[in-house]
Amino acid sequence: MDKIKMTTPIVEMDGDEMTRILWQMIKDNLLLPYIDLKTEYYDLGLEYRDETDDQVTIDSANATKKYGVAVKCATITPNAARVEEYHLKEMWKSPNATIRAILDGTVFRAPIVVKGIEPCVKCWKKPITIARHAYGDVYKASEMRIPGPGKVELVYTAEDGTESRELVHSFNCPGIVQGMHNVNKSIESFARSCFNYALDTKQDLWFATKDTISKKYDHTFKDIFQDIFDAEYTKKFEDAGITYFYTLIDDAVARVMKSEGGYIWACKNYDGDVMSDMISSAFGSLAMMTSVLVSPDGNFEYEAAHGTVQRHYYKHLKGEETSTNSVATIFAWTGALRKRGELDGNRELMEFADRLEKATLDTIEEGEMTKDLALITTNPNPVVLNSGDFIKAIARRL
Ligand code: NAP
Ligand code: MG
Repeated sequence: MDKIKMTTPIVEMDGDEMTRILWQMIKDNLLLPYIDLKTEYYDLGLEYRDETDDQVTIDSANATKKYGVAVKCATITPNAARVEEYHLKEMWKSPNATIRAILDGTVFRAPIVVKGIEPCVKCWKKPITIARHAYGDVYKASEMRIPGPGKVELVYTAEDGTESRELVHSFNCPGIVQGMHNVNKSIESFARSCFNYALDTKQDLWFATKDTISKKYDHTFKDIFQDIFDAEYTKKFEDAGITYFYTLIDDAVARVMKSEGGYIWACKNYDGDVMSDMISSAFGSLAMMTSVLVSPDGNFEYEAAHGTVQRHYYKHLKGEETSTNSVATIFAWTGALRKRGELDGNRELMEFADRLEKATLDTIEEGEMTKDLALITTNPNPVVLNSGDFIKAIARRL
């Protein structure tokens, strides 16, 4: 059989620990036998990031801008313990944060839905994708403890020195205060990424804030989304047969619980942080969540939502057997291959991505799975496979 040819490379970002082991197994068993795989390889493993003073992360993000499609393995975000463990020169920033800043993107997280792993919410039949705005608000706020009576004001000083003020509160006892911000440019990028991803995946887009209470702050989010939609996307959405729907955050939460899924829910930074944890645990497992970073000018970086599964890696290093779930990492690859195929008009590559996803889901539906899924499946007799055998079971069906 001739291998599937590729014209443009995918940017490949290798990573750390257990997911780095899975990465190689996926390539060896599921990709290289069938595809003449063209990638531009960047080693984002922590050792090489340290060796290059993290330049490799910046280079990989710039390559994504050049080629448009990347696939990323989970990576360690260094903390004090990791600095010691890897004798790092510095506590390097999270690669995801670096890449997101360069691509100016929004992260979309969606569960992989499979028979036998049922969501806690019975009416959810299709995935719910969360889009989280990743700039500002409470994550970049200034806070003060107010020791006693006195007044707190917001003060804006324009470049010409003129001031405008807004009273926050006249305190007559101790209290607390917080000042947060966002910038229109970031909200506009967020809106465009959401509209583009809705078109790309042919799903409705929901957006919600607390604009009835927050008449300037949240209302600005609502207005920016609506203005961009009216000016640039009305016709495109109509043609694609999808809708943009704005509502109050309370109403959105109530509707989500009664919906059957199958849409994108755009959230402000804090809402997205909280709601994505709710959605992912309600759908079953972190190991079944995919994540894609979409830039407003249409670059895509696919990855698994989980981390490097450190605990399993240490077992692996001791020679013990692991049963680590590779589904989200496989779907990161299929997402990237399908998008590459779509951009290059390479139908074979797109069909391969479909087949690999089907083989993966069939494996689980036919009862062969890793331990994390065996613990939550409704299948009465699951067969628990180790990390390597699970990938081989998929390869047999592929
Ligand atoms: P994690 O790697 O997501 O794993 C946490 C736990 O979740 C695991 O110990 C395991 O539970 C379970 N789990 C996660 N993925 C699984 C999979 N594919 N198969 C089976 N079980 C899975 O989070 P962490 O241990 O807190 O973080 C480890 C490293 O990952 C950290 O250095 C962190 O910086 C990094 N991280 C990277 C990314 C990213 O690159 N996008 C995201 C998050 C974290 P059991 O131990 O109970 O089996
Ligand atoms: Mg969270």
